[in-house]
Parts: sequence; C-alpha cells; structure tokens
Amino acid sequence: SFQPSALLITGGAGFIGANFLRVALAADPSVRLITLDALTYAGSRSNLVEDPRHTFVQGDIADGEIVRRLLAEHEIDGIVHFAAESHVDRSILGPAAFVQTNVVGTFQLLDAAREAWGDRQDVRFHHVSTDEVYGDLTPEAPAFRETTPYDPSSPYSATKAASDHLVRAYARTYGLPVTITNCSNNYGPFQYPEKLIPLTILRALSGRTIPIYGDGQQVRDWLYVRDHCEAIWQVLTRAASGATYNVGGGNQPTNLDLVHRICGILDERHPQGAPHVRLVEFVTDRPGHDRRYAMDTTAIARDLGWRPRHTLSTGLDATVAWIFDNREWLAAIARENDLDDWIATQYTD
Ligand code: NAD
Repeated sequence: SFQPSALLITGGAGFIGANFLRVALAADPSVRLITLDALTYAGSRSNLVEDPRHTFVQGDIADGEIVRRLLAEHEIDGIVHFAAESHVDRSILGPAAFVQTNVVGTFQLLDAAREAWGDRQDVRFHHVSTDEVYGDLTPEAPAFRETTPYDPSSPYSATKAASDHLVRAYARTYGLPVTITNCSNNYGPFQYPEKLIPLTILRALSGRTIPIYGDGQQVRDWLYVRDHCEAIWQVLTRAASGATYNVGGGNQPTNLDLVHRICGILDERHPQGAPHVRLVEFVTDRPGHDRRYAMDTTAIARDLGWRPRHTLSTGLDATVAWIFDNREWLAAIARENDLDDWIATQYTD
C-alpha cells in the first residue's frame, strides 16, 4: 500500500480533479495537495478548494521545467494525473491541443517523475483514463475488461490511448511505479456545462431546446463523479504497482432515456417548465459516434472492494440539487467563458 505525503494533482481545477481534491482531503488528514492546472476553458479557480493543505499553481503539464520544480520543491511522492483536453466534439474540430496536452503533456510528467524519483518504489504515478480507449460495443457484446484490446475512435480517445501506452512503457522500461484507471462517463458537481447531463439540465431549466445526437440510442455507462474519485483513491493507496482497473457505474441507459429521466426530475423541482421533455430536439449525429460503452468492474470489486454508492437515480437527484444550490458557481463559469446567458441563472426554483 502507498501512503502519500504530498500529491501533485494535475487538472485539479477541472471537473473530476476538483471532486478528487475534496475526496483526498477527507480521506487522509495529513496529505498535502498541489494542483497544477493551466486553467483552459475547462478549468476554473471557482472549482478549487480553500484549505491550508492545498496549493494551487497555474501552469502547463507539458512544461517540463515547472513540473520538475514542483516535484522537488514540494517533495512530491505521488502524482494523480487528470489534466487533459477532454471533450470529444472539440477533438474533432481541433485535435492539435489534444495531442499536445494528452500525449506530450503526459510524457513530460512521466519523464520528470522518472528523473525526480529514480529507483524509488515508495512513490506512485496514477493515470486517469477513459473507457473510450476500447472503442465501442455492439448491443450484445460483453462489457469492456482490463484486457480488452485498444481500438479508439476519436482524436480524444486516440490521444488518451497513446498516454496509457506511455504510462505502461515507463513502468515496464524504467520501473516507474504506476497505476491506471479507465473509467466510464462521469457526471455530478463541477461538470462544465458543455457535457450532456449539465447541458440538459441547464437548457431545460431555461426553456431552451435539449439537443440529442442522432437517434439518441447511444448507450453510456454513467458513474457519479464522487464514486469515481473514491475508486481512484482506493487504487492509488491500495493497488499493486503496475495495476490497471476499469471503473464504471453499471448504469446503461440510452442517451434518450437519460434525458427523459432528467426531465422527470426537473418536472418535480421546476413545475413551471413541465413537461421539460417537450424541449428535446434531435440533431445531426457526431461523426464516428461510438454506439455503446459498458465496463466490467469485477476486478476492482474483487481486489479492492470498490462499488459505486450512487445509483443513477440518486446521482441525478444529487446533481440537479447541486446545480440549484450553486448558482454563483454557474454564474462564474458563464462569466469566465462568455457563455450565453442560458447557462447562467435564467431559471427560478
Ligand atoms: P475537464 O476538461 O473538466 O478538466 C481538465 C482540466 O485539465 C482543466 O482544469 C484544464 O484547465 C486542465 N488542463 C488542460 N490542459 C492542461 C495542460 N496542458 N496543463 C495543465 N492543465 C491542463 O476534464 P475531466 O472531465 O475532469 O477529466 C479529467 C480526466 O479524466 C481526463 O484525463 C479525462 O480523460 C479523464 N476521464 C474523464 C471522464 C469524464 O466523463 N469526464 C471519464 C473518464 C476519464
């Protein structure tokens, strides 16, 4: 097992990283956290935690100098690597940033860690990756396992696959102590409103149309973000060096079902807009759109006893409640990014 004293959290100002800061501070009363984040459109200071054990540094993971300086200055003994370009649609419009951050950035981190840590085995590099590296599944195919061959479809998933390979190569070639988690689609607090669930909630609450790609029959395996962060913490602190685990929620609605469920929750919380489902509008499908993902989480349940605490229904309720309770956060995100006013505070309880 690994007990970190100072963790470098890359991408801690993004969606999952922000949730992980909170999970890690609560899980270990002595750990120190140093967030390194470039604050791209997806990162925001308003996602960070105010805590004497947390330090924020603005910088690029592909800048080897900054990374080397932080590793030495803060005596970092663990890296939890979230920073990435993460939105599939943006990777189709502009793949260059994805190659730069996801591939070159991951390489720079690995190389700095190897240099700083030498042969030490009391250290850890945890890489946060995605189920999208496995490509997609036909409706009847079994869920992805850790041994499923890589077959990425989009520039996003191809760069994440490349980064996974680099992490494994550093373990195999240089003996760097690494772990990897590949997780399905996350949702929950602090998610940037371009992603399906917050987008649906915010557009519906402001009476705008809810866009659904293609026929809406794409299937995703949704996991509440806090459950993902707990899984990362368990793997970081308890898994064997070199291990990879698949993480998922075991919830596999179609996108259309999911949007209908969200509309049902909103009808109760915001009856003046009901029925929200009338706002659904089908739009041209994303090119190369994967039809189905599903994760087999037998290994992490067996080895580490991890299971999601949230069902889709409790997770969606918590997400909607969070959005209602955090309008200043939404307003800050909208201001920083010049988002259309529908994303901000155009709705009432
Ligand atoms: P996000 O886009 O919300 O956050 C990414 C963060 O990384 C942002 O704060 C951004 O400012 C920062 N960043 C981007 N480029 C950087 C750079 N060059 N240097 C430093 N910081 C940089 O992403 P997320 O949804 O929180 O995802 C985090 C990680 O989890 C990613 O690696 C992603 O591939 C993986 N993942 C996400 C999901 C999901 O459903 N969101 C599922 C599985 C895996």
